[in-house]
Amino acid sequence: MPKIQGFAAPDARSPLAPFSFVRRKPGPEDVLIDILYCGVCHSDIHQARDEWGGAIFPMVPGHEIVGRVAAVGTEVTRFAVGDIAGVGCMVDSCRTCKPCRDDLEQFCDRGTAWTYNGTEMDRTTPTYGGYSTGIVVPEHFTLKVPAGLDLAAAAPLLCAGITTYSPLRQWNCSPGDRVGVVGLGGLGHMAVKLAASLGAEVTVLSTSAAKGADALRLGAHAFESTRDRATFKKLAGHLDLIIDTISAPHDYNAYLGLLRARGVMVLLGVPPQPTPVAAFSLITRNRRLAGSLIGGIAETQEMLDHCARHGIVADIEMIPIEYINEAYDRMISGDVRYRFVIDIATLRG
Ligand code: NAP
Ligand code: ZN
Ligand code: ZN
Repeated sequence: MPKIQGFAAPDARSPLAPFSFVRRKPGPEDVLIDILYCGVCHSDIHQARDEWGGAIFPMVPGHEIVGRVAAVGTEVTRFAVGDIAGVGCMVDSCRTCKPCRDDLEQFCDRGTAWTYNGTEMDRTTPTYGGYSTGIVVPEHFTLKVPAGLDLAAAAPLLCAGITTYSPLRQWNCSPGDRVGVVGLGGLGHMAVKLAASLGAEVTVLSTSAAKGADALRLGAHAFESTRDRATFKKLAGHLDLIIDTISAPHDYNAYLGLLRARGVMVLLGVPPQPTPVAAFSLITRNRRLAGSLIGGIAETQEMLDHCARHGIVADIEMIPIEYINEAYDRMISGDVRYRFVIDIATLRG
């Protein structure tokens, strides 16, 4: 039983603090990974503070994991000790239902085993995430991190990368398409890089005027402030696809007005409270409002390989684990350029 050092939220109102626990003994299909880096996703904050309801405590967040394989089970064929491996938002699923067979493990009919704030498929063993020194994951849910990618900067690809890559692919983002990226944080900056790599003309829509120069450096063609109401007039009917990554409640109707006829707005951000959508926002010009949840394991591998081919990783600020509570506060105020990544060596002491 691997002994693990981690950081956990003891309840929804207390700061994260040191927490030791044991992982299950690796079985024949499992990979034991010594974690090197873990990205900090805004979903970690929503869940550690129980903003979505139903949180399980103590909670060890973290689902942007890169590490080194420390042991493999007897039936593991794709990984060997010493390999670099990645783990994202899922650690198991039934693997036999229709969604699982269709490479959509995130929609498993029997309930996906999430990397943390969930249970293993036995529905009793709690799962603990990547703010920890090690993790045991079935080979099927373990990703190959292509050689050549900076390992710390690759960690955010495991959630922010796949979450933005998948809707760009679902809506067939193609050269010349006008893509709007709303909110320039962890997901948003990956959406800019990935949409640009697919040949799109990207416009960033942000509340933070100070991020304008970064947006262009990341690959956007234009940057517009959403604090300026004139932006919504100027861009009315202009965009083919909007990728909305805002983590807090905001007016979807205002952004829907920026779509061309039959354009699509995809919600990725999960504000804790609902927001009304006026029928006219959609009926006018046959606009579409969609959502997207991470991506399946095969698509996650495809995204990692795409990133390796295009030299894409996240822009990161590396932090020691002790900084995690301050990092959360900075993310809530939009002050991150553009993903915090925890150096897990700081947990080993
Ligand atoms: P993040 O790094 O904190 O970025 C969110 C950005 O949203 C901020 O940088 C800010 O951008 C903007 N924003 C924040 N508060 C705002 C407000 N009150 N009004 C307007 N804009 C605001 O967060 P993230 O890690 O990218 O995650 C974003 C959201 O996606 C979260 O809700 C997270 O839970 C969700 N998520 C969903 C999936 C999925 O599968 N669908 C996967 C991962 C995460 P500007 O400064 O540019 O305005
Ligand atoms: Zn995430
Ligand atoms: Zn299933």
